[in-house]
Amino acid sequence: MAKVTIATDWLEVCSGCHMSFLDIDERLIELLKSVEITSSPITDLKHPPEEGVDVGILSGAVGNADQEETAKEMRARCKILVALGDCAVFGGICAMRNFFPAEEVLKRGYVETESTVEGQVPSEEVPPLLERVKAVNEVVKVDVFIPGCPPPADAIYHALTELVKGRIPILTGELLRYD
Ligand code: SF4
Repeated sequence: MAKVTIATDWLEVCSGCHMSFLDIDERLIELLKSVEITSSPITDLKHPPEEGVDVGILSGAVGNADQEETAKEMRARCKILVALGDCAVFGGICAMRNFFPAEEVLKRGYVETESTVEGQVPSEEVPPLLERVKAVNEVVKVDVFIPGCPPPADAIYHALTELVKGRIPILTGELLRYD
């Protein structure tokens, strides 16, 4: 039987969701018998293959133009798109900047922090910030939501095993968390 192909990527993140993915631990070895991970931030290949994958997984919110493109590329190249973690599902901690205009956030981060001396807001080779941080489904259609900060490894494992069986996973009880 052909393996289910999975590509993962991250947007505006702390990388905790991908660490939780790795916390599947030894079950990952069993999973890899039926799954091929084609690309991921934790492998050499970063972009989903042009020919597409069965499942795309995005962690992180969409905070700049580059991340918007990454989300669109993943959507275009996968059959089922999974939003992994609170940042991807509803903006999470990244969306705290939405209380302020983007210019104010940049000024605070690059110029006004207590440890900064003669700081400057970078203007070259830096993707422009969006006016506000968005959840992934505000940019592209999402098929599966796995909330949590990060989601428990058990929830990720459950979702992946269901997807491998061709089912859309349903998270309940301890697997459905928002913290
Ligand atoms: S949901 Fe939490 S763990 Fe995942 S990227 Fe966001 S802040 Fe990090």
